[in-house]
Parts: sequence; structure tokens; C-alpha cells
Amino acid sequence: MGRQAMVACADCGRPYETFDLDVVVPDEQWRDICPTPPSGDSDGGILCGACVICRGSKLPGVVVARLHFEFRGVRAGLAV
Ligand SMILES: [Zn+2]
Repeated sequence: MGRQAMVACADCGRPYETFDLDVVVPDEQWRDICPTPPSGDSDGGILCGACVICRGSKLPGVVVARLHFEFRGVRAGLAV
């Protein structure tokens, strides 16, 4: 059996399962901020919300983002 790859932010290394938000930006803006693809790969990975903001703040104009919130009662320690 192969080792399962951990999905994490390409910039800060934060594991995907700990992201507070899924941040989605339009394709044309993603092309401007996406991580550089490793050779032979079709995409360069994912970014956490903080790193999307960091990279997007270096672009001229405005970054349009759609936020996806998932409320996880167990993780937050809430009874839902
Ligand atoms: Zn990050």
C-alpha cells in the first residue's frame, strides 16, 4: 500500500482539514495566485484562506472570493 498524501496549503503547510474556510476565487484570478505546479503535475495545490488573501493582496484591483462555511459542532465542541 502506498502512503496517502496529506492535502495541505502550498504556502504555509496548514492541513486542509484544519482550514476554517474554503475560499474559492474565479478561475482567472486563481491563475494569478495559484501555487507553481511541480513539474509533471496538473495543478500546484491548494491555498488556505489566509494565503489566498496574502497572494491576492499583491494583485492590482479586487479579488472576488466566495466563502464556504462548514459548521462542525463536534470540532467546535458545540452540541448541535
Ligand atoms: Zn496557507
